[in-house]
Amino acid sequence: MNKVSIKEAKDLKGKRVLVRSDFNIDIDENGEIIDDMRIQRSLPTYQYLLEQGASIIAIAHLGRPEGEVVEELRMDPIAKHLSYLLGVDVKKVDDCIGGEAQEAAEKLKSGEVLFLENPRFHKEEQAGDKKFAKELASLADIFVLDAFGAVHRADASVSGVAEFLPTYAGLLIEEELHKLDTFLADPERPFVLVMGGAKLNTKIGLIRSLMTSADHILVGGALASTFAKAQGKEIGTSLFEEDLVEEAKTTLDEAGRYPGKLVLPVDFVIGEHPDVQETQVVDTDSVMSNTSILDIGPKTIEEFSKIITSAGSIAMNGAMGVFEKPAFEEGTKKIFEAVAASSAEVVVGGGETLVALDRYGAAAGVDFISTGGGAMLSYMEGADLPGLNAIPDKK
Ligand code: ADP
Ligand code: MG
Repeated sequence: MNKVSIKEAKDLKGKRVLVRSDFNIDIDENGEIIDDMRIQRSLPTYQYLLEQGASIIAIAHLGRPEGEVVEELRMDPIAKHLSYLLGVDVKKVDDCIGGEAQEAAEKLKSGEVLFLENPRFHKEEQAGDKKFAKELASLADIFVLDAFGAVHRADASVSGVAEFLPTYAGLLIEEELHKLDTFLADPERPFVLVMGGAKLNTKIGLIRSLMTSADHILVGGALASTFAKAQGKEIGTSLFEEDLVEEAKTTLDEAGRYPGKLVLPVDFVIGEHPDVQETQVVDTDSVMSNTSILDIGPKTIEEFSKIITSAGSIAMNGAMGVFEKPAFEEGTKKIFEAVAASSAEVVVGGGETLVALDRYGAAAGVDFISTGGGAMLSYMEGADLPGLNAIPDKK
């Protein structure tokens, strides 16, 4: 990693450090955290700063409140859990800028932690507004960006504040970049990319950029429906991305130069709706107009599994079908099990991907779980990331 790390900052004692983390995680109706992996993985940065005698002003977002105060998206449950995990009292304020935040920040003593409210309650956050970023920066002496899952965003609290404060990478970002760099530098062959899920727009860039370096690119989930559409196939009422059909066609053309590289499903499990129990297995040319593609079929599972089993390294993001519904979970279950059982070096990232990983007991077979979904994909693609650009390079 060529970004300057917080470990290189001198004299942290008595300094107020604004730490931007990615704690965007699922919280149930009772305010209980469903999976705290992102908080757990962020602890080293907090512990390090506290050991050095700094005080911490933590900032992170939750959900998509779109510039409005949304009660269920307040940061209180996260602050409370962070406090529990750190074993340190964490004070929480109900805004991230303004008088209350200023006052609480000024009162902070060495070893204390303050948690700011969800910055997305202000529309200025996602607009990357400079004045708003400057106000956030005014709370602290130093900025530590540790939100790997958000580095692909040019938000005020991600890249904006870096303009106004000495900026360092946190230990989680350091770990993520190190692991992903090492993985990509010289992947064991065959190198297999397993892509699924709903959003081709976050994945097509990586699929195209790894077209030369990956040995096989397996495509399932709703991504496969957009590719089927691009091939002129009937996809009925399937979820797909209209605005990506052209790019999918281009991708298919590019893939034509590398026989056997882009591996699309040969059969699907279809149904009228994810909630119905009646399913049917059809080959990819036989989807009926009143049905949706909701999972990959058994022949595809077999073909994908064979490639996975002989892989030397695997990068995976996205489910093979609507695994949340038992009628359409088989593809995801079988493919995730095959990935876990393979002797390949495995890197996985994503939101729902990690839920599926847990559900099928596949996490133990994974070498590195990235806390980033879109961010991991963009980083692996080699895209320019505003958050990383905001951290100075190592001298
Ligand atoms: P991740 O968050 O892991 O990166 P995505 O957000 O792209 O993945 O997509 C995950 C979701 O995609 C899952 O919740 C799953 O239900 C859905 N999905 C997978 N296959 C299909 C499909 N064929 N049709 C509709 N939704 C699908
Ligand atoms: Mg998701």
